[in-house]
Amino acid sequence: MENTANNSTKKVSMHTLGCRLNFSETGSLAEGFVKRGYEVVDFGQKADVVFINTCTVTDSADSTCRNLIRKAHKSSPEGKIVVAGCYAQMEPETIANMQGVDLVLGTSEKYKVFDYLNEEEATAIHVDKSMDFYGAATTNSDGHTRAFLKIQDGCNYVCSFCIIPFARGRSKAISIADAVANAKEILSQGFKEIVLTGVNIGEYETASGEKLVDMVKSLLELEDLERLRLSSVEPNTITDELLAVFKSSPKFLDHFHIPLQSGDDDILTGMRRKYTVADYKKVIDKIITAFPDAGIGADLICGFPGETNEQFQNTYNLVKELPITHFHVFPYSKRKGTTASKMDNHIHNATKKDRVNSLIHLGEAKLSMFSEDQVGTKSNVLFERRNKDGLYTGYTTNYVKVFVDTSEELKNTVRTVYLKEYKNGKLFAELVQ
Ligand code: SF4
Repeated sequence: MENTANNSTKKVSMHTLGCRLNFSETGSLAEGFVKRGYEVVDFGQKADVVFINTCTVTDSADSTCRNLIRKAHKSSPEGKIVVAGCYAQMEPETIANMQGVDLVLGTSEKYKVFDYLNEEEATAIHVDKSMDFYGAATTNSDGHTRAFLKIQDGCNYVCSFCIIPFARGRSKAISIADAVANAKEILSQGFKEIVLTGVNIGEYETASGEKLVDMVKSLLELEDLERLRLSSVEPNTITDELLAVFKSSPKFLDHFHIPLQSGDDDILTGMRRKYTVADYKKVIDKIITAFPDAGIGADLICGFPGETNEQFQNTYNLVKELPITHFHVFPYSKRKGTTASKMDNHIHNATKKDRVNSLIHLGEAKLSMFSEDQVGTKSNVLFERRNKDGLYTGYTTNYVKVFVDTSEELKNTVRTVYLKEYKNGKLFAELVQ
């Protein structure tokens, strides 16, 4: 491959769209590039390889991907442009026909990018429709604090708004032995905290019938592991047995992410979600019984086709009443190929925007209240970095960011703190010696 950079070090720029899983996969691939002698430069800078990890969750995500490809070709006209991931899986020909694109890699092919980069073909498409599992153990962007461990991919559900089952295929799982080996590798690099990721990790199941609960048990036994979190888990997959295992270990953190999407039963039916409002309430109640100070995140979609003001109000009232602390609010966005995109009564953008804004405001108020309520208590914090004001920051077990004024070097250490003041939207803490 021709080297377009000024010096002899090859350069790669990467851009990620979409979900946390995509970000963790890009993190893993970035490490692969670094191991092969590449320098990672900012997207938009001239590079030998431009890698775009795409998303296809909505039609507008598709058009963002195409804009990024144009931008990449402009900034690196002689570089190899690699477009990978969900949009590449769904529409490989559209992407291959765009100017400058060299490689189109589907969701399971993206891990073979290093082999394909050596190919000399003009434009190559590698999309495997069987979409096997390719796992990844990855770091977060600033390294050595929290690592994401991918244990599952794909989804067998058919939520009417979602294209992911088509883009990532049916659910598949890494074996527990492989996950443990990956976890050991992560821990040997000095990581203290692992976050289990996947598209629908509650449905994790190996060919021999091992479930998420078995995976969590095995990981909690690892001596070097200090903290374990789960990424998003569907409410219908939270079992009593799972909660009992979480509760059995101080390594498991009291932080959950349980997608709700809507607080109205008719909308949940239209979305083809697998629970009712009553089921969801029950799950939250069990979590709070087991972990009274839990931080609980929820995804919420505003303006699903046909959503009336009253139905939106049902969502608003439900999340106001429940101990949900971290809101992730999205306007419903059409994705062609999904059942919901063909429904009647699509909601006006302005109405969606108003609903999104009112939930965001409620979410901010609830997170403030949750943070304030913790003043006067202690928590364990994994410290990440010093901010521009010189304060050390990190997250409590229940996922509130704290700020500590200290001269001690705390990066990647877990320390007990006393939460002493909530001011101007920030929770200030001091180290407990
Ligand atoms: S659970 Fe529903 S929203 Fe989540 S990936 Fe599966 S189909 Fe999509």
